[in-house]
Amino acid sequence: MNAVPAPAVAASIVVERLETVLVDLPTIRPHKLSVATMNGQTLMLVRVHCSDGTVGVGEGTTIGGLAYGGESPESMKLAIDTYFAPVMVGQDATRIQALMARIGRMVKDNRFAKSAVETALLDAHGKRTGLTVSDLLGGRRRDSLPVAWTLASGNTQADIAEAEAMLAQRRHNVFKLKIGARGVRDDVAHVAAIKQALGDRAAVRVDVNMAWNETDAAWGMAALADAGCELVEQPVAQAAALGRLVRRFPVALMADESLTGPDSAFELARVHAADVFAIKIEQSGGLFAAQRVAAIADAAGIGLYGGTMLEGGVGTIASAQLFATFANLQWGTELFGPLLLTEEILATPLDYHDFELHLPQGPGLGIALDEDRVAFFARQGLRRTISVAH
Ligand SMILES: [Mg+2]
Repeated sequence: MNAVPAPAVAASIVVERLETVLVDLPTIRPHKLSVATMNGQTLMLVRVHCSDGTVGVGEGTTIGGLAYGGESPESMKLAIDTYFAPVMVGQDATRIQALMARIGRMVKDNRFAKSAVETALLDAHGKRTGLTVSDLLGGRRRDSLPVAWTLASGNTQADIAEAEAMLAQRRHNVFKLKIGARGVRDDVAHVAAIKQALGDRAAVRVDVNMAWNETDAAWGMAALADAGCELVEQPVAQAAALGRLVRRFPVALMADESLTGPDSAFELARVHAADVFAIKIEQSGGLFAAQRVAAIADAAGIGLYGGTMLEGGVGTIASAQLFATFANLQWGTELFGPLLLTEEILATPLDYHDFELHLPQGPGLGIALDEDRVAFFARQGLRRTISVAH
């Protein structure tokens, strides 16, 4: 009888070390949000080196430094270097859920950093097994994802010209307008002018990033519905206020900043605070947590939209690998982050065409870093004052 090769002993594959780097990349234009104007994006990249020689990569980003939430790329790097690494080194790299639970016991909060290391562990395990990250999460239901574009130049005519260029290239036909920095009436006029110019050729949505009070929101949502806007994202901060606004106007209401993982998803669903969830791997605390958010949305009859923290190529494709497995993705995605950056750090850029992001077929995340370019844009030592301005 032939000897049967012994299966790999899973426990023998352990995390050997972690490596983090901050990468500063310029944006193609200033990106104006109610919370900040971004002239660049900082990616925190983490590499997890395993004892079988596999190396997984993950990414953490924020929108406008600390303007959006409690984590920054710098804080993620510090947390991983100082607190995650000792908890992870020597642990089984193949039992990712167990390792993330161990990290969860030792590190509270830090959802974005957890998403980055979980991504890296999944990438490594996919490379090890020859499976895509989507396969590790149960398999794809689709190989490409619709991608909305955000118009955020702050200028109506410039936004219309940008939208026309995107339509001509067949890159995007869903546009999200960042509003809330100006008065409500000015914002509604801005949205109405863009919708009128684009007509039925494109869908128009808005993101207020919590800038309105409830009175502004009630007036604004009615006027936006009249202007042909199909969705309003996080007009106000509080879940209770969202709940009072939902279904009052013929425009869908989406929760974004309020959604910080499964617990908040359950609470938002319980108080009927949204028609749609903007689901993000970083905001959720990782891909597995985002799966649980999606399950809550499905159970509650809430629609799903694949959101972005303006990640670069690594975080964007990690999100896409998960969103491609969702049973429902009624509102598409906004996974355009790499297209907002002037510099490419992937060996092969992500494939955007015909209004969709087309997923790679290779194992793990299916992407490779251009190591020379990562090294070129890596931040050396302590840095200049952050390039975020109000
Ligand atoms: Mg948003």
